[in-house]
Amino acid sequence: MFARILSGEIPGEIVRETDRVFVLRDIAPQAPVHLLVIPKTEDYANVVELAAGDPALLAEMVGLGAELAGGDFRLVFNTGEDAGQTVFHVHAHVLAGDLSEGSLVDR
Ligand code: 5GP
Repeated sequence: MFARILSGEIPGEIVRETDRVFVLRDIAPQAPVHLLVIPKTEDYANVVELAAGDPALLAEMVGLGAELAGGDFRLVFNTGEDAGQTVFHVHAHVLAGDLSEGSLVDR
């Protein structure tokens, strides 16, 4: 699904793109800033696979998320269906702004 947004097949607001990573504004934001940092490759379903397979790519995602958050932020990787993961193409949620109301942790 994220790959189809990247290719332009379905709409989405891409706020940043590098050679290996793109950043999408979440369609259902749970914080004033809610971005999804996504590797272009679909090889990794979750952060555990990504950390094992390409730690440099994971580090690039974290760095880009920090840059775009523009201050303190929460970084969430839902990992597995029971943890709320719905898209099995690894992505980091970057949440910033006022985080006092709810979060991905307790939805
Ligand atoms: P997960 O639940 O897998 O951790 O996160 C998937 C995220 O993708 C959710 O926060 C959801 O709001 C977001 N999402 C689902 N479909 C779309 C879409 O078509 N466009 C965008 N921008 N975000 C989406």
